[in-house]
Amino acid sequence: MSQSQQADNSASLDQFRSELVDRIDLGMPHTIDRLANLVRIPSVSWDAFDREQVQRSAEFVREQLVQTGLFDEVEIHQYEDAAGRPGQPGVIAHRAPAPGAPTVLLYAHHDVQPPGDERKWDSPVYEPTIRGERLYGRGASDDKAGVMLHIAAIEALRDICEAHQQQLPIGISVFIEGEEENGSRSFGRFLDEHRDALGSDYIIVADSDNPSTETPGLTVALRGNVTFALTVRSLTGAWHSGMFGGVAPDAMLVLTRLLNSLWDENGSVAVPGLRSHSAPVPEYDEQQLANEIGAIGGQLIGVGPVRERTWYQPAITITGIDAPSVAESSNTLLPEVRVRVSARIAPGQPAGEAADALMDYLRAQVPWGAELEFDDLDVGEPFLVDTEAAGVAQMCSAMRDAWGAEPELTAIGGSIPFIAELVERFPDAQILVTGVEDPETRAHSPNESQHLGVLRKAIKAEALFLAGLVLGSDTAQQAE
Ligand SMILES: [Zn+2]
Repeated sequence: MSQSQQADNSASLDQFRSELVDRIDLGMPHTIDRLANLVRIPSVSWDAFDREQVQRSAEFVREQLVQTGLFDEVEIHQYEDAAGRPGQPGVIAHRAPAPGAPTVLLYAHHDVQPPGDERKWDSPVYEPTIRGERLYGRGASDDKAGVMLHIAAIEALRDICEAHQQQLPIGISVFIEGEEENGSRSFGRFLDEHRDALGSDYIIVADSDNPSTETPGLTVALRGNVTFALTVRSLTGAWHSGMFGGVAPDAMLVLTRLLNSLWDENGSVAVPGLRSHSAPVPEYDEQQLANEIGAIGGQLIGVGPVRERTWYQPAITITGIDAPSVAESSNTLLPEVRVRVSARIAPGQPAGEAADALMDYLRAQVPWGAELEFDDLDVGEPFLVDTEAAGVAQMCSAMRDAWGAEPELTAIGGSIPFIAELVERFPDAQILVTGVEDPETRAHSPNESQHLGVLRKAIKAEALFLAGLVLGSDTAQQAE
């Protein structure tokens, strides 16, 4: 390519991008309008709520996707979960790619959390209300803004391609789930039944948050989890503590000694088989966090940067105990005690490996020959993006252009179970977890809201990312 051709090409690319961004600005009132209409549908997916409303919101989403005119098919599907319970309706749209063009799957969910205490809301839960730069209402952000983000981004892309008399070459699938807030129980069925339509080169999951309204975030890691019930049995009977206290290794003594071995003197996990992940983290003030969580002594446990502790190190908590209550206690040596052990495991460590490491460690540490029994094991795989993958750089570049700010690679200490299912079913896809939330969003709480400036920037970032796929070969040439 000659230098002048190269200059022409990059000028037209820049023009394409700036037209795309202008188109999104122009479309914002319509986007917000449709988001408001979606918020008016109380699509709570929990079992005790009206399923008809979830169906209504699925139909609304389907209609929006049909109206884009981009899809070969747009359908509402519903499946039973593994236990035979009926799932909630999800919407799937699919458009085949031109030969050789990349494919992308856009995910969000149209169901919402229950309102909680309605008296704590400053405006009606399902009556979208704009105050300042924010739109208030249940689901205004989580995740109905995610739904509208995808729709607005592809509409803008469609229009600019049309304006340039260019076919939209990329394959696009959209999956708008209807029961994310109820445990994504039939999610796996959707992936199995629509494997061909949903399998894609890139999967954009718009259901996470941004570090602030000025800084975009790309979520690149999630901790996994391992939980189980642990029973400690040390005596065959419940003997009198006056007769045998001082010689009998009672189960509570065994348990406290055993549990104490799980942490070191700083409160960090001391189980050698539980790994940590290593990646840079943003600063977070230790004292501020201690205040935020109301740590009575003003102190935190663990060592290393705060974010490293909550994102990339393992953690172990005892979340329940079966033992006599204080009111019912007597002078008896306990023969048996049962606890629930709940561990968060670092991104990068397979959950099964972590579970084995933890149980082996407990077996090796148990004092006085007591018996241990493990049951009710539940594991969730962690998630770790290969940050060297091309998709991450492309999304970061799109975010930088859309937000005018450097994106942060962030992580979440909790898990998003369905992401593990996506990784398992589509191991070759690049999964990009983006979102429309910010620290003031209050998802799941009263006064949930969407910052409209963030929504606008998030739509632009996704549209620019998709434009990069459309113009892919040109971009590559330009970069030479
Ligand atoms: Zn969500």
